Amino acid sequence: MAVAGCGGKPTVDLPASLTAIGQATPVSVQVHDEHGMKKVTATLEQNGAQYPVWQTNEAKGPDATFNFTMGSKTTPQLKDGHARLIVEVTSAGLMHSTARTEREVNVATQPPLVSADSDQHYLYLGMADLATLNVTGAYTAAGVRVGDQTFRAWPMPGGKAGLFSLFAFAWNMPAGTTPVVFAANGAGNDVTTPITIIFPKKEQPVYTQHTIQVTDQFMQKVLGELDANGTGDTVARFVKINSEMRKANNKTLADLRLKTADHFLWSQPFTRQSHSAAEATFADVRSYVYHGQTIDHQVHLGLDLAVTQHVGVEASNDGRVVWAAPLGIYGSCIVVDHGYGLQSIYGHLSRIDVHEGDTVKRGGVMGLSGMTGMAGGDHIHFAMQLDGVQIDPREWWDPHWIKDHVARRVELAGFAEQAGPPARDNAKKRSAKKRTGRR
Ligand SMILES: [Zn+2]
Repeated sequence: MAVAGCGGKPTVDLPASLTAIGQATPVSVQVHDEHGMKKVTATLEQNGAQYPVWQTNEAKGPDATFNFTMGSKTTPQLKDGHARLIVEVTSAGLMHSTARTEREVNVATQPPLVSADSDQHYLYLGMADLATLNVTGAYTAAGVRVGDQTFRAWPMPGGKAGLFSLFAFAWNMPAGTTPVVFAANGAGNDVTTPITIIFPKKEQPVYTQHTIQVTDQFMQKVLGELDANGTGDTVARFVKINSEMRKANNKTLADLRLKTADHFLWSQPFTRQSHSAAEATFADVRSYVYHGQTIDHQVHLGLDLAVTQHVGVEASNDGRVVWAAPLGIYGSCIVVDHGYGLQSIYGHLSRIDVHEGDTVKRGGVMGLSGMTGMAGGDHIHFAMQLDGVQIDPREWWDPHWIKDHVARRVELAGFAEQAGPPARDNAKKRSAKKRTGRR
């Protein structure tokens, strides 16, 4: 943003996003001068030559935004590679004072080419998959795009040629959405190729509907813990926590995608908390009923695993802690990064025994379960996310799934399909247990 100039000195600003120039790249320049502008010019400098690309004598008010395009279409002398953009402004004031800004840019006139693997990708709501892709030509970003969600591509492990991307087909993605592989060069060139998909309509997960009875005791517990200084209508405060705070907390979780390792931190299937019973399945729709009135609906993006009170919370796989702190409705929360955008989440803890940056081992205890945050009983809220999109954790417990979808396509060093104890499932035995109290 332009800072108000003093003494008639103009200012000029370019958006931070402008880093590359293609055939015809839109540019937006912001200038400020209390006397208005006499002249604004843009010049590209490459290999010692200067090419005027745009100018205006259009005097506007003290603040003006100028939009123009530049690139190889109008400056055919430009070569792919490094260049410098210089924007100069001359004040309309008596002193005709000037200001200039410079920006290093990359000229990339040819769009990259992207190709996808020829596999058939079976898509299930809330589930993940892996695609491999090849990109030729200069590019600044590549990966898989599903609807409005983007999953990054990474160089193949083991020094092999090509890229791969772990991606998710989100629980709420419209069924007809076709994922594409994409590559962009930052200069307005964005190329995509669809991947081959099969969407087995009859085998899609069916999300269940649950009613949560909000007792006065639970209401008071939640408000006391998450809105201690709030005032006003208790139901409105509860709903605000359950909706707005939930949304903000999920955003914080999603943003942890940027704290991920560029290699696999794991080699074995994920494990499920020992002896745990699942008291909620992924993407349940929950209706919150208080004194007979439905006050809210929310989608529960995880599993609620119950064992006993204050049980040791086990890391589902090898990884590195990227969050170990309170997180609103999730209470005291740990997030473990497993590399390539895959992360596991553990909520409602009563004690955290790890710190951000710690390395954890599969099955290693990281703290104790509890009921902090939006929890009415002692349990572990367990969830997983892929590049910030929450997914159903179940597949990652299954060695066959990991072999078919991950290890068959990329080198997962140390992976053995038979490794590790199978995930225990005591859900049947305990499913009759009272549901209220688990959130
Ligand atoms: Zn939960």
